[in-house]
Amino acid sequence: MALPVAEWQARTARLWAALDPALRERLAAASLRDAVRLGCDLLREEEEEAALVSLCRRARTDKEPQAASWYREQGNREFKRGQYQAALRLYSKAASHELPGSPEVSVCFANRSAALLHLRHFEVCLEDIARAESRGYPDRLLPKLLLRKAECLLCLGRLQEAQDVLGVLESKTALDGVMTTHLTRLKKLSQLKAEKERCPEPAGEAGGSVQGEPEIWEENSRISGASSSLRLSFDAERGRHLVASQDIVPGQSLVKEEAFVSVLCPGESVPLQDGDTAWDTRATNADLYCHRCLRQLLASVPCQGCSYAKYCSQDCADVAWQQYHGTECSLGALLLTLGVFCHVALRTVLLAGFAEVSRLVAWSHRGDKDLQNPKAGCKALSDAGAGGRGISGCGSNGRYQSSYQALFHLLPHAEQHSPEHKFLCTLSVVAVCKQLQTAGLEAAVLNQESPQQRSIPKTCEKPSAELSPELKTVAEAMLRHVLQLQCNAQAITVMQELGPGDGAVVDKKPVRLATAFFPVLSLLNHSCCPNTSVSFSGTAATVRASQPISSGQEVLHCYGPHWCRMRVAERQQLLRQYFFECRCRACLEELEPGVKGVVSIRNSFCCPKCQAQMQGEEDTLCCSNGACATSASRDHLSGRLQDLQQRTKKALDLLGVGKADQAIKMLLKCQMDAGTFLSPEHLLMGELEDHLAQVYATLGKWQEAARHLKKSIEIVEMHHGPLSVETGHELFKLAQILFNGFAVSEALSTIQRAEGILSVHFGPQSAQIQELQEMKACLSELPRNILQRT
Ligand SMILES: [Zn+2]
Ligand SMILES: [Zn+2]
Ligand SMILES: [Zn+2]
Ligand SMILES: [Zn+2]
Repeated sequence: MALPVAEWQARTARLWAALDPALRERLAAASLRDAVRLGCDLLREEEEEAALVSLCRRARTDKEPQAASWYREQGNREFKRGQYQAALRLYSKAASHELPGSPEVSVCFANRSAALLHLRHFEVCLEDIARAESRGYPDRLLPKLLLRKAECLLCLGRLQEAQDVLGVLESKTALDGVMTTHLTRLKKLSQLKAEKERCPEPAGEAGGSVQGEPEIWEENSRISGASSSLRLSFDAERGRHLVASQDIVPGQSLVKEEAFVSVLCPGESVPLQDGDTAWDTRATNADLYCHRCLRQLLASVPCQGCSYAKYCSQDCADVAWQQYHGTECSLGALLLTLGVFCHVALRTVLLAGFAEVSRLVAWSHRGDKDLQNPKAGCKALSDAGAGGRGISGCGSNGRYQSSYQALFHLLPHAEQHSPEHKFLCTLSVVAVCKQLQTAGLEAAVLNQESPQQRSIPKTCEKPSAELSPELKTVAEAMLRHVLQLQCNAQAITVMQELGPGDGAVVDKKPVRLATAFFPVLSLLNHSCCPNTSVSFSGTAATVRASQPISSGQEVLHCYGPHWCRMRVAERQQLLRQYFFECRCRACLEELEPGVKGVVSIRNSFCCPKCQAQMQGEEDTLCCSNGACATSASRDHLSGRLQDLQQRTKKALDLLGVGKADQAIKMLLKCQMDAGTFLSPEHLLMGELEDHLAQVYATLGKWQEAARHLKKSIEIVEMHHGPLSVETGHELFKLAQILFNGFAVSEALSTIQRAEGILSVHFGPQSAQIQELQEMKACLSELPRNILQRT
């Protein structure tokens, strides 16, 4: 997903292998500028361009009116079945395929507004009605739409407006019987509401809003977006890094930064085969989140030019168009084919503006010491004491901020990437720049033309033309960014609800939403046992201390391989992709001969005969109980584990189609089998308990659910630690279950524990904490007789 599709990777690999060895050598040693120059010549082969064009056909981003009507029909079908959520998504897909200005697009919005009304999203429903009205909704259908508008306004308590709409409707003649009845009903309702308004109910409880405590935050004067409790430091071994300049308490915010650039990841979706005409009805990230601000979408505003980009509002659509999408829109399929890294690189350049890009590229050519060698710059820093002057990436005022200049200084590690990889990246960015040129977008990229002036781009006229010097500069900057992303890409993740989301207990899992550059966050070094935790809201990241950090200690962030989730060998292998040999505390300890990491101990097999732990690094494992001497092949046990995982998945599928009883039976059988060969602390044992809790919760059997979830929590605590996010989420679920089961005192103490953990990771203002506090408020208002029962 980050890199180009497999076929393009394979193609460039073959091309690389077939190159003249002398040329390969030249490419391997080439500077970024020379790599682009050579890449331009190599991509001139028409065969390569044709191959890319055919790969792009699979990623569909054009508007297809046929798809629009198909999606609309599917939407109507779901609507009739009362599946309004599904209908809503399908109408959104339909709207994204309609040609702007066509009358059908107004019908899509009108249909969607009906689904929104049923789902009681009144404000958004009104927005869709306004969209339908302004896009030429047919006159003969208008009364129905106006009735819906009046109903919405009534539900929102906007009486006067509702009555105005009803007045307009009455003056229209051609209302059929059903509509007249509906109109009469709404008028009655508006009268009732008006009377009620004249004698208002006594005011509700005062100060009912649940508010977390405000956070203490003082910004660092030398690093934008960082806390004043940090300072920027440098040494040869660690490079630039952040250090606590005073004692820090858990939960304290250390960095708050808006992404310099972010690109939504398209999410999992099976690529359509050539010639396949069935359109996909599943919703991916691209349908669920705003392509600019990453807010969750309810009723998306489609891009005017493509079927891919969707936004939370017209505002976001307009800003995105003006800043970058006006240029990216017609390149949609190519960018999906070449992967998110290429896309981020292009957007970075567009956001920075050509003047800034060419200034910094030219600077890098001059071999400026500050730029080529960050150590030189940082020497100046240490000479100047704690001042930031001279540190690479800092502005002329000595301040480090989230800017293109700071981003440009992130290390591309150009000499450490394999030559094949550099070759792939080079050909990919050159392909993007060629496409920009042939699509007539060069002036837009060079900021010589305002986005408003831009019309539909011209189609390829001279496909193999030489890139202009300016576009070569753009390609060089993009190549730098693609290489930087390998080590500096930050995934923006959110907790996404699993399942239909109508259960009393909400299960969530983290999902990668976008790939972004955060120049300040990038100053943090990696550790497999970090002392911070990062969370996201839209495109903003917040780093909080997850444990006490004393003055002088380095502030560390986990790039992914966490000691609780991976064995040291796997971690070290993964980190090698970042050209990084981890020397964190966890790695140093686990690399000692004879020491076994927690992951391998906890996820081990146990003896089928005596349940003692199985040992051995080879293909045959032996029971650790000397008296038992049972042995088993590793492959055999792994096979059993896989089989178990598949059966567990089947059980969950049964739950998905409402067969809870069968799901329970199957899960209990899995649990029994698992006990015969997995260590009691194995993560799968915990997952089985968690699934059982989930099934019992859907049946309203709260006590059983709580019993299983508590066992799952024990295992999660063992794997991730009692103060980890994972434990926090499990406690959150337990709180919901106890809350639903009216186990008041236990619910309150669980809420308190969950609150303590989650506020360290997500802050006191986060949605999770708000929900917990609402539960608490609700419980304390319960009548005494219920309270006494527990
Ligand atoms: Zn948005
Ligand atoms: Zn578009
Ligand atoms: Zn490590
Ligand atoms: Zn044994």
